[in-house]
Amino acid sequence: MSDERTLAEGMVEKIGEETGALTHETHMNGEKTPFVEKRPFRDHREGLMRIGELLGGPETAVIGDTSDIGAVGHRVVHGGEAFHEPTIIDDRVLEAIRDNIELAPLHNPPNLLGIEVAKSIFPDAVQVAVFDTAFHQTLPMPAFLYAIPYELYEKHRVRRYGFHGTSHAYVCERASAYLETSLEGLRLITLHLGNGASMAAVKDGKCIDTTMGMTPLGGLVMGTRSGDVDPALPFFLADHLDMSLGDIDRVLNRESGLKGLCGSNDMREVIRMAQSGHDRARIALDVYIYRIRKFIGAYAAALEGLDAMVFTAGIGENAPTIRWRACEGLGHLGIALDRARNTVPGKGISEISAEGSRVRVLVVPTDEELRIAQETKRVIEK
Ligand code: ADP
Repeated sequence: MSDERTLAEGMVEKIGEETGALTHETHMNGEKTPFVEKRPFRDHREGLMRIGELLGGPETAVIGDTSDIGAVGHRVVHGGEAFHEPTIIDDRVLEAIRDNIELAPLHNPPNLLGIEVAKSIFPDAVQVAVFDTAFHQTLPMPAFLYAIPYELYEKHRVRRYGFHGTSHAYVCERASAYLETSLEGLRLITLHLGNGASMAAVKDGKCIDTTMGMTPLGGLVMGTRSGDVDPALPFFLADHLDMSLGDIDRVLNRESGLKGLCGSNDMREVIRMAQSGHDRARIALDVYIYRIRKFIGAYAAALEGLDAMVFTAGIGENAPTIRWRACEGLGHLGIALDRARNTVPGKGISEISAEGSRVRVLVVPTDEELRIAQETKRVIEK
C-alpha cells in the first residue's frame, strides 16, 4: 500500500454454472502475466478458496505465504443505518450485517460467506467491511425519508439508502485533488454510469442526495433496471397482467432499462443501433439521457448551485456522446463542454468542460478496489 501498486487482480465468473472461469493476473517486475482456469466453481466458497491458493501458488504467487496479508477489505453492499464508515469486522459487525439481510437479500449473504472464507484463508489478517451505503448516510432526513407511514421507517427501516458509495466517494476525492480545491465549500454532482447507474449530490464532501433508493432499483435508467417508475405500477401489473411479485421483480430488475426499451443492455450496442437508424434504440437513449438531465437540474437546486460534475464508470468514462447530450443546453446552469476535449479525453483524469465554463466537468476513472484498500488501511491504522 505504500505505493498503492496492484500486485494481482482477477475474478471468478459464472459461479454455480457449468462453464465457470477464473482469471488471475499477476503484476510483478513490471510485467503482467495472465492465468486462466476454465472449470465449474460450485459456489463462492470454492472460488475464493482457489483465489487464496493462487495468491501463494507456485506459478501465480505474489505473496510468500498467507501471513503476508495484513488485512482484507470486503465490499459489503448494505450497512443499513448501522454503519457510517468502514469498520473492522468483529462478531457485533457480523451480527449487524446479518440484521441487514432483509434489506439486501441477494448481496449480504454472499458477503458474509466471503468474510467467513477470507478468515479461514488468512487467519492472521484483520477483516474490514467497506459499505456501499456508508457514503450516503449523511443524507438529510428530507432526502432519505419516503412519505409513507412513519412506522415503516421506525420499525422496518424503510428509507432511501443509496449505493455505489465507494465509487462516488472515490471520484469526489480525486476530483477535489485534481481541481486543487478542498471538498469543503465544493458543490459536486457525481454520475456513476455503469450497468447499474446512480448520481449523487455532494456538498462539503458530504453526500446530500442520491438517485438510488432503499434498493438499487430506483433512480436512473440502467442496463436492465427501470429506475424510477410510478410506485403504483406493480398494482397494475398484478391486476391487469396477473403477474406475481416474483414476475414484477424480474421485469423491473432484469427486463427493463435499456434492455426493456430496445433489446440490448450494452450501451456500446445501443449507440451503434441508434446510429444505424434503429428507432427503439434512439428512444432508449432519449429516455436514458432525459432522466440524467432531470437529476442534474434537481441536484443543482438541492446543492443551491454547482461547481463541478464528474462522470465515471463504463459509460461515464467511455461514451462521449452520452456525456455531450447529458450536458447540452445546460449553459443556464453554467455547464459547457468542449467538443474536442469531450471526444478524446486524456488518460486518467481529464477535464472536458469548455474554457470559461463556470462548472468544471471531469471524467474520473473509478477504482472501487483501490478505494476499498485505502479505506481498509485507514481503519486499521486508526
Ligand atoms: P458494472 O456496473 O458492471 O461495473 P461498467 O462500469 O463496466 O459496469 O459499465 C458497463 C457499461 O459500460 C456497459 O453498458 C458498456 O456498454 C458501457 N461501455 C463500456 N465501454 C463503452 C464505450 N466505449 N462506449 C459506450 N459504452 C461503453
